Amino acid sequence: MTLLVRGGTVVGATGTHAADVLVEGETIVALFAPGRAPDGDHQVVDATGKYVIPGGIDAHTHMELPFGGTNASDTFDTGTRAAAYGGTTTIVDFAVQRTGEVVQDGLAAWHAKADGNCHVDYAFHMILGGVDEDALKAMDMLVADEGISSFKLFMAYPGVFYSDDGQILRAMQRARENGAMIMMHAENGIAIDVLVQQALARGETDPIHHGLTRPEALEAEATHRAIRLAEVARDCPLYIVHLSASQALEQVAAARHAGRNVFAETCPQYLYLTLEDQLGAPGFEGAKWVCSTPLRSKHESHHRDLWQGLRTNDLAVVSTDHCPFCFKDQKELGLGDFSKIPNGIGGVEHRVDLLYQGVVDGKLTLERWVETIATTPARMFGLYPRKGVLAPGSDADIVVYDPAGRTSIGVGTHHMNMDHSAYEGYEIAGRVDTVISRGSVLVADGAYHGRRGHGRYLRRGLSTYLN
Ligand SMILES: [Zn+2]
Ligand SMILES: [Zn+2]
Repeated sequence: MTLLVRGGTVVGATGTHAADVLVEGETIVALFAPGRAPDGDHQVVDATGKYVIPGGIDAHTHMELPFGGTNASDTFDTGTRAAAYGGTTTIVDFAVQRTGEVVQDGLAAWHAKADGNCHVDYAFHMILGGVDEDALKAMDMLVADEGISSFKLFMAYPGVFYSDDGQILRAMQRARENGAMIMMHAENGIAIDVLVQQALARGETDPIHHGLTRPEALEAEATHRAIRLAEVARDCPLYIVHLSASQALEQVAAARHAGRNVFAETCPQYLYLTLEDQLGAPGFEGAKWVCSTPLRSKHESHHRDLWQGLRTNDLAVVSTDHCPFCFKDQKELGLGDFSKIPNGIGGVEHRVDLLYQGVVDGKLTLERWVETIATTPARMFGLYPRKGVLAPGSDADIVVYDPAGRTSIGVGTHHMNMDHSAYEGYEIAGRVDTVISRGSVLVADGAYHGRRGHGRYLRRGLSTYLN
């Protein structure tokens, strides 16, 4: 079975050129000058006038995550189907060890949730909520045997996921030895909890206080501390997740300027949404945008600085931190107390489009768009060159993107299991036209042809940014 993506403009991280892409089975076998592919009984995808890019890789999702007494509303089934609609053909989700639990049990629980349910390929990072001798041994085992080469630690959420500085240092030292990446939720959770209690005692219960009690300074402080701890761990590779603020970005940029193994991602919500306009919406409406790190003030320079960081590679990756909760019955758990609102925004379906808007607005080049949404995530997390590039031998994960199309975002049209949209009413230039995963067409002509169970677990190697 062969498939030919014909007539399009192939965009990769290093350049753009007209080419036809030939797929055999699940694999790309060759790229040809236009019209030069050998004749055959190919299934043809017409990409005339369109971009042909590697399938998107969302390196930060939380399907079915238990949080704050409820579960993230997308299952691996609904969430990966929505991802496919949006041009994302690989997700890297977070398996979870909570404080007091065994790492391997947490991993087994995540396999049980995902196995046979995914529409696109998937891999796991491991959240370590309790760094002890057993967890450190488990890190080695996961890297060597399970294809898990990155571990997320939290400087926030005491009692749930929190690691103290000693635990962080020990995990970093272990990662330096086994080659893994440490991913950090960098917010000073101990100080934040003081501010939260003080705000509640003053009767400040509205959603906006979620943001006001998590000030930029406490993200920058934690980012700085993580960078210095990694330095003490002999420059352990460090990846700051969901970076939201200018001062935290300055810390990352300074470390990178000094030649350190420090990387960072941001998310579309930090590029488009604000503390005042969304989190500060009247009444309880702002609960839709409660996420951590929080949305930042529009009166400061965060959006401009984050777009610039993406351009200069101080921000290497755009992920979504997809962690959806419905407004009814889930976000509503925090009525009258913002600290009880489940933290998370859903966006796995919209990342490719929202970042393409950055190309249209002149903030990113076409190549940098592909690099931040597909190629770098693949390289950063040990999936390259199987994923993240259109090249012979790579998985045939291909998105045909129509620059002349339009995308309207809203609860009426999205496919995520959410009763609202963080981007309701957004009109975006560009549209996902055709989505192919390992040679199978999942989306074409607005119709869905994918299926639950098509997606496979991916064992990852080490990051190719390190030696
Ligand atoms: Zn986090
Ligand atoms: Zn997250």
